[in-house]
Amino acid sequence: MDASEIRQLLEKVGAVRHGHFELSSGRHSATYVQCALVLQHPELAERLGQALAEKFKDLRIECVVSPALGGILVGHEVGRALGARAIFVERDSSGQMALRRGFSLRNGERVLVVEDVWTTGGSTRETMGVVEQGGGRAVAAAALIDRSNGKIEWEVPAKALIEISIPSHEAFDCPLCRRGEPITKPGSHFARLSA
Ligand code: ZN
Repeated sequence: MDASEIRQLLEKVGAVRHGHFELSSGRHSATYVQCALVLQHPELAERLGQALAEKFKDLRIECVVSPALGGILVGHEVGRALGARAIFVERDSSGQMALRRGFSLRNGERVLVVEDVWTTGGSTRETMGVVEQGGGRAVAAAALIDRSNGKIEWEVPAKALIEISIPSHEAFDCPLCRRGEPITKPGSHFARLSA
């Protein structure tokens, strides 16, 4: 699948929507992204995972590590395509990302960190820290969608399937509001899915 096929697929299933949205930050945007809406279809999740894995096939990845919750399904599919394990980190009671559930890494194990969407890349960075602390080597990073507008500087090879620029505006300064476009609030329902 090339980038335009992926973009069409995400739009068809509603994972990328165009309109007038109030984001959880309170800002307004003409585009809304919810990866769960494509990942709910296992055969599509598998195809996207294969396409993403293809970009890292020469890196001898032994384990995929993803930040919960949003990264788990993508990471699992990328792990399947690479013939690697797929585990995840999640927040412990102190709010720190950690390997739990008996997950561990071998010393020097080659890890690809996989997330669904990069906005600031913070969760991926945090996951890479956990991997290194756990004895693994975070050798690369991957995401389905990069919506950072190319602003993230990575210290390792990092690739996303597609880049989507999502400009947003303060409510008082929103061109869609000025045109009187009705607004949708994806709100708490969607926030829970991506939490
Ligand atoms: Zn608006």
